[in-house]
Amino acid sequence: MKFIDEYRDPELARKLVKKIQELSHKPARLMEFCGGHTVAIMRNGIRQLLPPQVEMLSGPGCPVCVTANADIDKAIAMANLPDVIITTFGDMIKVPGSYSSLQKARAEGADIRIVYSTQDALNIARENPRKSVVFIGIGFETTAPTIAAAVQEAQDNNISNFYTLCLLKLCPPIMKSLLDLGELKLDGIVCPGHVSAVIGSHPYEFIPRNYGVACVVTGFEPLDILLSVAMLVEQIEKGEPQVEIAYRRSVKAEGNQTALELINNIFDTTEADWRGIGVVADSGLKLKQAYERFDAEKHFSLKLKPAKEARGCICGDILRGVKTPVDCKLFRKVCFPEHPVGPCMVSSEGACAAYYEYESA
Ligand code: SF4
Repeated sequence: MKFIDEYRDPELARKLVKKIQELSHKPARLMEFCGGHTVAIMRNGIRQLLPPQVEMLSGPGCPVCVTANADIDKAIAMANLPDVIITTFGDMIKVPGSYSSLQKARAEGADIRIVYSTQDALNIARENPRKSVVFIGIGFETTAPTIAAAVQEAQDNNISNFYTLCLLKLCPPIMKSLLDLGELKLDGIVCPGHVSAVIGSHPYEFIPRNYGVACVVTGFEPLDILLSVAMLVEQIEKGEPQVEIAYRRSVKAEGNQTALELINNIFDTTEADWRGIGVVADSGLKLKQAYERFDAEKHFSLKLKPAKEARGCICGDILRGVKTPVDCKLFRKVCFPEHPVGPCMVSSEGACAAYYEYESA
């Protein structure tokens, strides 16, 4: 197939649904790790097309949603420092922290600018040499190369007023952590497409080997997702879990070596704080010692109050796949996109926002 419309062909979709129905006999509990997949599944009504024994749960693959309140509080505290410009992707600005949000801080006078790339943030640093420009570095392995490239460029060009609050997170370690928690008894994982374009499929191999859980990497069109479900069901029915790729047009088993090299040159792994899961060893990235001068946390000294969660918000449980947005008492009543109580209602990849948009009330 060459054109994107072909990945939305209703006739091919019907054939894949029929194949899944014919293949599936055992209960199959699948997690779509990535928030982008959750949105695609909701938008295309894919859950409703599957036989009742095939269950799909949302996972923690939404970078905005998994950013812990303690880290959002740090970004807000930096925004309130004199002569600081905060640069951030759009979704982050509305996310409530423990006591405020970047949006509120901006309304109170902080200089906070939405950017579409780390290059935009670097340009703001170039144009404002008397200010400190902080880029809020959220994201997974997909975003890490772009932040690495910006840090390298800042180093090469001696841009000394550019910093990043590095909140980058890694997907395979958090999958391991979820499996170790054992709350879900998963049979299969729909592995993220964009992340896998960077890291490849090899880093998931421990999952079938050590946990007996099937893995299929896929893309974001309806046929990609249905194909991945068919492949997962086939593995589960045969009792032969392995890692497969249903997204060959973007993902190679070995990943993107250039992007991986960039990540490895600039970052070391470190622990990271995940909303709903907590601090997980080696599940985040920090700047290597040679680049520490760009580390916002090292540069600014902050006084922070203890972080706290919004009362009644169950984003943490939703991100672990143990609850769905409709289990939240605040869903649609108190919490909606114009008044989000938690990040899962803010982000374009958040499960609550996706349920709000596509699940009938
Ligand atoms: Fe949190 Fe709102 Fe989702 Fe409830 S509906 S879990 S309050 S974001």
